[in-house]
Amino acid sequence: MRVTILGTAGVLPDPQRAQSGYLLEKDGRLVLIDCGSGVFNRLAQLSLDWAKLDTFLLTHLHLDHVSDLLSIWAARWLIGAPETALYGPHGTREFIAKLLDLFPYIRDHVRATVHELGAGEIWDIAGFEVATLAMNHYVPTLAYKFDKKIVICGDSEPEPALVDFVRGSKVLLHECSFPDSTSAPLHTTPTALGQLLASADVEWLVLTHLYPQAAAQSEELIRAVQKHFPRKVTVATDLQVIEL
Ligand SMILES: [Zn+2]
Ligand SMILES: [Zn+2]
Repeated sequence: MRVTILGTAGVLPDPQRAQSGYLLEKDGRLVLIDCGSGVFNRLAQLSLDWAKLDTFLLTHLHLDHVSDLLSIWAARWLIGAPETALYGPHGTREFIAKLLDLFPYIRDHVRATVHELGAGEIWDIAGFEVATLAMNHYVPTLAYKFDKKIVICGDSEPEPALVDFVRGSKVLLHECSFPDSTSAPLHTTPTALGQLLASADVEWLVLTHLYPQAAAQSEELIRAVQKHFPRKVTVATDLQVIEL
């Protein structure tokens, strides 16, 4: 499995970072998890067969995780690939129907199959075994575990059930939106994340979804997490590749 981190910013603009997006590849299949602003262009930087990018997962329905979705679908329609499958939390079906209704010229050409996922489920998606966990954010939000190897979380405050969910995984991608000095309701700061993961059985924590004040002090973020979670911790960068 190859994971390409496409975007690592939160809501505020950062010249080095697009908003959330993670591309998974295995046996020629491609899955995109989230597609915030800038992900469309990051995908264009890869030598990618866009017709093969037919499976999309959303962690939640906030704009910084969905804003490039229709741009990607419109591009795929224009190259002759209108079929797509979309998976997301409860509410995704109505959300997409309303969104497509705003752009009938796209709606009338893409053929999207939408699946709503609950928490605590296991699905077979594009050849991946995908397990789901409910996170704690402003709207229904999921974390996804792929082939028991990598967990990609949507936005959340530290969620206690994550410790069991990640057990035995190699990599955890978790948001670290703000430094400890910033109040972060329903988001995560590094010390809180380290405390949550203190006894977690996961080899490598990758911090992502960084607002500029967090991105500007990545070494401090890592140190704060590792006070409690003394394992491999890094800060994600756009276009970083992880092989699993
Ligand atoms: Zn977000
Ligand atoms: Zn959010």
